[in-house]
Amino acid sequence: AQGRNGSRYQVFDPSMHADAQTSLLLDTDLHRAIERQEFFLHYQPIVSLATGEIQGFEALVRWQHPERGPVSPGDFIPVAEETGLIVPIGQWVFREACRQLKTWQHQKLLRGPMYICINLSVKQFSQPDLIEQIDQVLQETGLEGRYLKLEITESAIMNNSTSAAEILERLSDRNIQLSIDDFGTGYSSLSYLHYFPVDTLKVDRSFINSMAQTHKTPAIVQAIITLAHNLGMDVVAEGIETPEQRHRLAELGCQYGQGYLFSKPVDTQAVVGMLSHRDQI
Ligand code: C2E
Ligand code: CA
Ligand code: CA
Ligand code: CA
Repeated sequence: AQGRNGSRYQVFDPSMHADAQTSLLLDTDLHRAIERQEFFLHYQPIVSLATGEIQGFEALVRWQHPERGPVSPGDFIPVAEETGLIVPIGQWVFREACRQLKTWQHQKLLRGPMYICINLSVKQFSQPDLIEQIDQVLQETGLEGRYLKLEITESAIMNNSTSAAEILERLSDRNIQLSIDDFGTGYSSLSYLHYFPVDTLKVDRSFINSMAQTHKTPAIVQAIITLAHNLGMDVVAEGIETPEQRHRLAELGCQYGQGYLFSKPVDTQAVVGMLSHRDQI
């Protein structure tokens, strides 16, 4: 079986699982995507639940495949993570997001000290030259570290716990903030919270989703919020889709949120529109 463009695609064993085939195809195409610059970023605002004021944006990578159209990061990020391609993709995302925030700062579009959140995968987090790369981009773009929030999952910390302490220390020397993404879905060994300089817990969307269905979920969300605040951390609730969820979370003491209720992730043009007409959603 030859690929569309000659022999670039591997020969498939017909017994091979469909997912493995998809992975192979994606891997080949991902290599090309980096060369041909098929990636771009969307931005989703993070708002104050009480006022709707925009606090910052999360940068989310998008891939426009020339034949298949848009491919969701949920499909290609795990493949990129496995093959290591996440490293160059992540470097591109990091530079592009910093450059974009700096541009918005220059254009005086941002009223408050708005930050940009960038997702760091487990593999990226364990790159020995991570800090050097970050320093280089900050220098290149002139962006100050305090406008940057890195989102990592609990497994990134737990898988690299010896080097994690040092990396996080060096990030905090640069005033770069740290968010724990998908909080509550991983190992949830809470012990790292008192060793590491964590600024924000992002409560996973699955909790927000099921809040209305069982009385147990609000109890868990309440416990996370109380824990975070007692440790001096902020809480961002992910995936807020309804006004009821927003109000319930505000009642529970959650200050910040993100979700389709406020805005889907959007392109830069839509962000500019959002910021020039209002800084409140
Ligand atoms: P995540 O970091 O947890 O990002 C939040 C995801 O939830 C995004 O999906 C966002 O579009 C989606 N979302 C936000 N609000 C709502 C809502 O109200 N309802 C629903 N149903 N979904 C909502 P997206 O953009 O498809 O990204 C999926 C995952 O892919 C991300 O989850 C993250 O783990 C990964 N990812 C995306 N961009 C990057 C990146 O640049 N680097 C790395 N390493 N991973 C990325
Ligand atoms: Ca995230
Ligand atoms: Ca998340
Ligand atoms: Ca998630």
